[in-house]
Amino acid sequence: MKHFALFGDPVAHSLSPAMHNSAIAGLGIKAHYFLHHLINGDEIIDAFFGLNLQGANVTVPHKEVAAKLAHIKSPEVEKIKAANTLVLKQGQIHAFNTDIGGFMLALKKLQEKSQKHSIKNALILGAGGTAKAISYGLKNSGIEVSVLNRSAKRLEDFKEFKTDTWESFEVKNFDLIVNTTSAGLKDSTLPAPKDILMPLLKQNSLAFDVIYGRQTPFLSLAKEHNLAYADGENMLLFQAVLAFNIFFENKFNPQEIQEFMSNGLAKARRLVLQ
Ligand code: NDP
Repeated sequence: MKHFALFGDPVAHSLSPAMHNSAIAGLGIKAHYFLHHLINGDEIIDAFFGLNLQGANVTVPHKEVAAKLAHIKSPEVEKIKAANTLVLKQGQIHAFNTDIGGFMLALKKLQEKSQKHSIKNALILGAGGTAKAISYGLKNSGIEVSVLNRSAKRLEDFKEFKTDTWESFEVKNFDLIVNTTSAGLKDSTLPAPKDILMPLLKQNSLAFDVIYGRQTPFLSLAKEHNLAYADGENMLLFQAVLAFNIFFENKFNPQEIQEFMSNGLAKARRLVLQ
């Protein structure tokens, strides 16, 4: 029996066990995926070995420390210094970041749905770990990325991009706007002041919010402007499919994994709504 876990703080709300255990059961694998509430991120490697894990996912606020402490890092993890997937190989913990690929696959779905096949430039709202993953993925696809954040400090990690705070920002046309802030996660706030967002949304053509499970004020505003938009549910699903493939060394068909995970996600949602 192989053991997998999600490390995070908080972690109880996560839908990852529903997705992974659904694929594990569907594919007839002898394994189990569970939540592990880890408060001190510095203990992540000890916890990994202590729980006798084969692999793990990592969520807020431990992605940076996971990247730092893993023994071997993928080029993406080396670059953005954040990892969401750990796997044990020959006694060493290897770190990956599947948020990047998860976002890019979810964006592709949105482009297909909206018939918008070409994106030349994108604006990212927020400058945290998720913004780093997404800006990396977009830049690697040849898209020009700008980053807009409430405050200046975190923008220091985005030296290769055009960056602004709300004070210095001048509105221009973007093909895509991505909200990576946690504004709207549990409240009704927008990720930037309305006088910035309204003219932006009038001009751009796609809106993406990494938050999932609710229509955020940002997506409501995008809808009011008749934009094509997506929330973070597909990103969540695709990052999990990619992580599962890493856990099991690409032994299973991604389409099959996705179907099982999608069913697990829908079932978990129905239980939450009951
Ligand atoms: P971080 O804590 O690293 O970054 C948060 C960012 O949001 C900062 O730039 C911060 O600005 C900004 N911010 C926070 N609150 C506000 C606000 N009220 N108004 C404007 N800006 C604000 O978070 P992460 O990048 O790790 O995560 C961000 C979100 O992404 C979370 O909601 C998480 O659930 C989601 N996520 C979704 C995934 C998916 O699969 N769908 C995958 C990964 C994450 P400042 O610097 O000024 O503080």
